[in-house]
Amino acid sequence: MSIDISIDGQVYKARDGATLVDVAAENGVYIPSLCYVRGKPGLGTCRTCSVRVNGKVMTACTVPVADGMDVEVSEPGMAEMRKMLVELLFSEGNHNCPSCEKSGRCELQSLGYELGMMVSRFPYRFPVRTREHAAKQIWLERDRCIFCQRCVKFVRNLETGQKIFSIDHRGSRASIEIDVSLADKMPPEQVREAAHLCPVGCIVEKGVGYNKPIGQRRFEIKSIRERALERKCR
Ligand code: SF4
Ligand code: SF4
Repeated sequence: MSIDISIDGQVYKARDGATLVDVAAENGVYIPSLCYVRGKPGLGTCRTCSVRVNGKVMTACTVPVADGMDVEVSEPGMAEMRKMLVELLFSEGNHNCPSCEKSGRCELQSLGYELGMMVSRFPYRFPVRTREHAAKQIWLERDRCIFCQRCVKFVRNLETGQKIFSIDHRGSRASIEIDVSLADKMPPEQVREAAHLCPVGCIVEKGVGYNKPIGQRRFEIKSIRERALERKCR
């Protein structure tokens, strides 16, 4: 059933129950997100898709549209909140982009550029998190994890459906973990997909770092906004 929703004062037709972040993109309105994967259930973990829906702040990746819904995306307070959330993600990890093999392909970095972020307004926490090298094909650069849970929810053993990644502890002690025996059973294509799925440079495929020259990397060719609006990017 077709319904009407308003985004920033403009009325759009939408499919009843479709996800707000998708409906916005289909109508040329970019709502950033780092945990959402198109076609999969919204996770609402990174909160960078926060918008105001009928006066309340909500995550656009978890909200199904409904007739008469009033959505504010570009309102300055909301835009500032999303920028702040991205700055927080930078300050909660250790992000040294020039030396990171995900640079140019990283959704967090690309979003930082998109939102005009120069530096985080929050004090950097410089967490100490050890790297995990035990799996044969993958290493975890834990400093860069933003705990979006994409890997936890969507990367599973192909036969049993068991989770391969998990998050241990909470808050400042949170840590991304890998089940090494299951990880070692992953076919190379699944390893590549997991590294691609990770929005930052935390899941790294061993042996293929820096394989694309500067200038030819994903977001150097087309920004995260352009890709989202073309529905080519998560
Ligand atoms: S993961 Fe992204 S934001 Fe972090 S250092 Fe690498 S390129 Fe920069
Ligand atoms: S390892 Fe990557 S995909 Fe997994 S939770 Fe961390 S940032 Fe998200």
